[in-house]
Formats: sequence, C-alpha cells, structure tokens
Amino acid sequence: MSTELFSRPVPSSAIFLPELVYFEPDAMNYPKGQHIYEWAKQQGLEIHMTTSHNQIRDLPGDSELEKYRIAKRTLVVGIRKTLKFETSKPSAEYAIPIATGCMGHCHYCYLQTTMGAKPYIRIYVNMDDILGAAKQYIKEREPEITRFEAACTSDPVGLEHISGSLKQLIEFMGQQKYGRLRFVTKYHHVEPLLDAKHNKHTRFRFSVNADYVIKNFEPGTSKFQERIEAAGKVAHSGYPLGFIIAPIIWHEGWEEGYASLLEQLYKELPVEATKDLTFELIQHRFTKTAKNIIEKRYPKTKLEMDEEKRKYKWGKYGKGKYVYKDEQANALREFITEQIFDKFPDAKIEYFT
Ligand code: SF4
Repeated sequence: MSTELFSRPVPSSAIFLPELVYFEPDAMNYPKGQHIYEWAKQQGLEIHMTTSHNQIRDLPGDSELEKYRIAKRTLVVGIRKTLKFETSKPSAEYAIPIATGCMGHCHYCYLQTTMGAKPYIRIYVNMDDILGAAKQYIKEREPEITRFEAACTSDPVGLEHISGSLKQLIEFMGQQKYGRLRFVTKYHHVEPLLDAKHNKHTRFRFSVNADYVIKNFEPGTSKFQERIEAAGKVAHSGYPLGFIIAPIIWHEGWEEGYASLLEQLYKELPVEATKDLTFELIQHRFTKTAKNIIEKRYPKTKLEMDEEKRKYKWGKYGKGKYVYKDEQANALREFITEQIFDKFPDAKIEYFT
C-alpha cells in the first residue's frame, strides 16, 4: 500500500457556505445586511428576497427530508423583531438572540423540535437593537451580574465568518461592568474572534463528547481534534474557557469513552487553558415530539430513545422529558466528575443536569 495514503493530512472540516440566501428588504438598510449581500454575491450564491424571515415557503426539495436538508443550507438575513429575551437556566440568566438555526446535523439537537417547520438559518442584522435590549436587562439586575447565553438557538461560531455578530457581542460585553457572555460551539473556526477585546467577560465553551457520540451523532460539525486545537487558541487569547459534555450518552463502553475524552483533553490542552476551566454536564434527554422528528429526519440513527428504559421528568407547563433512570444518571455523573477532578483538580463543575 502506498505510504502517501498515511502521510496525507486529514482535511479540515469545511466552513459553512449556504446554497440559498434570502433577504428581507429592510435588512438591506443595515450595514450588516449590505455586507452579507455583497459577500453572498461574491460567493456566487443564489439570492432571493422574502417579505419575512418567518415565511420561507418555497424551498426546493421533493420530499420532507430533502426540504429539511436544503433548509439546513439556507440562510435568511432579517430583522429581529422580538427583543424580549428568553431565560436560559442553568447556564445564564438570558438567551441573547443573534442567530437562529444551525447547519450541523446532530441527531439529538433540540432545535429540531424548537424550530419545527423552519429549520433554516437566520442571521439578524439589527445588532444595535439587540445590544440595546441586553443593556436594559443588565440595568434591571445591577449590581448583580447578568449572564447571557448566545448559543441557545444556534451555533454562532459556525456563522461568524458571515455575520461578524459574535465579535460585536463579545466586545460589547467586554465593556459591561455587570454583563457577561457565554456560548458553546462544535466548530473550530475561531480565528475572527481571537483578537476581540473580550476583557475576560466572555466564557468560550466547546462542546465535547466521547468518540462514539461524536462519530455517530454529530455529522456536519468540526472534528474533536479541531475543537481541542481551537480551544487552545482561544485560551491563548485570554478567554475564560469551558467544556460542555453534552449530551452524555449511556452506550457500550461509555466508561472508556468518557475516560478517554478527559485523558485527551488533559494531554492536549496547553497549561494556560486549564486555569479557570469550567465543565457543564448534561445527560441525554428527549421528548416524545423530539423522538418522532428524529426518527423521520435521521431514520438510521443509533440514538437510543426507548421510553421504557428512561425516567420521565416533569417540566414546565406539564411538558416532560425522558432522562436516564437515577441509577444510570448517578453512575454517569459520579464517573465523569471523578475523571474531571482527577485530570483537572482546579476546574469547576457548574452543574450536572
Ligand atoms: S452544532 Fe449544536 S446547534 Fe448545531 S445541530 Fe449540532 S447540537 Fe444543534
């Protein structure tokens, strides 16, 4: 066999390029709207106008599945009208909406349920309005610190090369005495954010997982190795760093899988990245609605969603989810906690849920 095969570098995960781009006419009145329009033209993308970012109805595709796949490669540039922020416990006080939707294809992603029939990606151009609303929320809680989560409805790092919104948000929060930002990503395209004036007010988190989970359930995202390298760069730029291990999935060999995840983080992170490090742990959960959608969109998924094997946890408004039974949840929490403290004794585990 040719040795060339072995020496060839592994290609890096591609940066997102939509196939179709829609603009609300008013979006063109904002510099960000114009900038994205120019970018789309330069890239030779198919451009359409739409009356509202909530009403993209003519997406191509012969089947529901095809329409879904195309929607995931469709970008809609519009204006965020609702400036009331949702709460975002336990990781922050509020979700800050700079984008909605994601090009990733994680089988378990809750956006499939929350975005329903509109899985396309929306970027909002009226950042001044969004930042103005954030300022108001901060003011209401002063002198308490108010934390904003920017990745509740999207993966904003994966869109930064198009929108530039995350850098704006990071620099805005850098100037807020009582405001803090956090977001999580599965993408490694962090370059545009490395020189942002963050003033350590932004916690940059990466979503990581056991090899089995990344390989089977996270198509369309950056590889583990790429995420770790990006985490090193981010730490080098002085950002407080964090990892979210989510969803934690019970699978054959899970102990080896999660032990090896922590081992790799320990081996590969530069020392500076291990200071002020946080972990958030989220076990896999699903609703009946999510299960139905996932089975349609990813019919061959190996994701275990057997209600019989789970515990039903009641939630807000009488809508519950299926989580692991206590015995399994405790085993996962205890084992992963031990592994974290064994490798990173100074890290903080913010929660297990
Ligand atoms: S990267 Fe995050 S937001 Fe995107 S599909 Fe995966 S889980 Fe969902």
